[in-house]
Amino acid sequence: ASLALGIDIGGTKVAAGVVDGAGIIGEELRRDTPGRDARAVEDVIVELVRELGSRHDIRSVGIGAAGWMDLDGGTVMFSPHLAWRNEPLRDNLEGLLNRPVTLANDADAAGWAEWRFGAGRGHNRLVCLTLGTGIGGAIVMDGRVERGSYGMAGEFGHQIIMPGGHRCECGNRGCWEQYASGNALGREARELARAKSPMAAELLAAVHGRARDITGNVVTELALAGEATSRELVEEVGDWLGLGIANLAAALDPALFVIGGGLSAAGELLLEPARRAYAKNLTGRGFRREASIVAAELGPAAGLIGAADLSRVRQSDRLGVR
Ligand code: BGC
Ligand code: ZN
Repeated sequence: ASLALGIDIGGTKVAAGVVDGAGIIGEELRRDTPGRDARAVEDVIVELVRELGSRHDIRSVGIGAAGWMDLDGGTVMFSPHLAWRNEPLRDNLEGLLNRPVTLANDADAAGWAEWRFGAGRGHNRLVCLTLGTGIGGAIVMDGRVERGSYGMAGEFGHQIIMPGGHRCECGNRGCWEQYASGNALGREARELARAKSPMAAELLAAVHGRARDITGNVVTELALAGEATSRELVEEVGDWLGLGIANLAAALDPALFVIGGGLSAAGELLLEPARRAYAKNLTGRGFRREASIVAAELGPAAGLIGAADLSRVRQSDRLGVR
């Protein structure tokens, strides 16, 4: 059977895997994202493809990256978390890899995978949110990813929900991802620890007293282990999540929201407050049907599975090039 290679490039990790037509991963490799250097990231991609290509028959390569792709899918226009600026990534890589390369936004790739193989199966219209370094968004509608007129639909993380609020890497203030991502959770916990609040004692103990080592993952793990302050912090992020989802329901009215990304490991600790905040803020509540908010099923590999799957067919069929 023919295999596709999927690569997911996030703010901190690069994951690559060979994927079959049923969305099953054969071999998977991981690397750290090399700093803020565009070339260095391309070098890592080439190295990963060559290594996996030496052991598997790879027909196509799909890249899901935390960046804004132009509609034609050749160029990464901008990324708040990566070094690419107007980078003709597809041509660069096709030249080096001798295989067709498809570029997709990381969240679009994850949303596609959840629709094809995961929590979104059978749904005609869904929104997938990936919560990690930022908030990624995908709209999957009628069997394709809706990408807007210029390729940037679904950048929900940069909706301003708090004018004058926290500064975002995109340059604005008050973006949703500054309140409801894994990074936001880490920042809130660090702030609490630096304020010397006794509430942060267990958080600090978990990182041997070094407040700067408190990340969203650390807080999530402690929350899952039952630590009270961490649970409260996750719940607060869940409140922001639900509020933003209510806004998305007003704009898009999907029947399903699928929540993935690293922070979704918090499970019901995050989703339950999110559902409450959603129901409380939904416009027209009581007079309309409400969407379900469910956890993603494919875990951290969703992005690479989706990127691989998207590379199997002509990009125009699935990624909204008309
Ligand atoms: C970026 C998106 C990306 C998301 C998750 C956001 O800040 O703008 O393009 O999908 O982070 O990585
Ligand atoms: Zn922003």
